[in-house]
Amino acid sequence: DEFELSPVGQLIDDTIELCGQKFKSAGVKLKVGMIEDQLEIKCRRVQMIQVLFNLLNNALDACKLLDRPMVSIEVAELQNSVAISITDNGPGIPESIKNKIFEPFFTTKEVGSGVGVGLSIAKGVVEEHQGSLELESQTGNTVFIITLPKAGEEQ
Ligand code: ADP
Ligand code: MG
Repeated sequence: DEFELSPVGQLIDDTIELCGQKFKSAGVKLKVGMIEDQLEIKCRRVQMIQVLFNLLNNALDACKLLDRPMVSIEVAELQNSVAISITDNGPGIPESIKNKIFEPFFTTKEVGSGVGVGLSIAKGVVEEHQGSLELESQTGNTVFIITLPKAGEEQ
């Protein structure tokens, strides 16, 4: 599994291809912001799609039972990096567990619906790509932000 030059928009499209139907069935609106065509990262595509897939699934789980569930994906171009944020309008993540969610096997989901490895794997993959995965959560809003070097800006 080699590093390949990949347009960010295409990674997101490929991920939505995998989970878009699940969002539709659950009645969760999925909103994707404008993404510059030229914006590319060098990544192991399958792994990066898995990261996006995990974050989108967590977002879906968090808001699917609410009144007007919505998940949005936004991409921002920074000087040397790309920030991909995934936001849901779920209940947020309690302060008391914020430092545990990235640990392997930590889950608040019932037995059988989550094994608690999604975020730890996602963080590991992003860090192997010289990036970071961060949480910003307030009540009624959770944002996970993936920051990765733009293609050509890796160390
Ligand atoms: P799993 O989804 O199997 O529980 P993860 O590692 O993906 O494992 O997530 C760990 C825990 O982090 C979840 O069980 C949940 O408590 C919390 N979490 C992750 N994403 C969100 C989110 N978008 N909103 C609320 N809680 C979240
Ligand atoms: Mg998960």
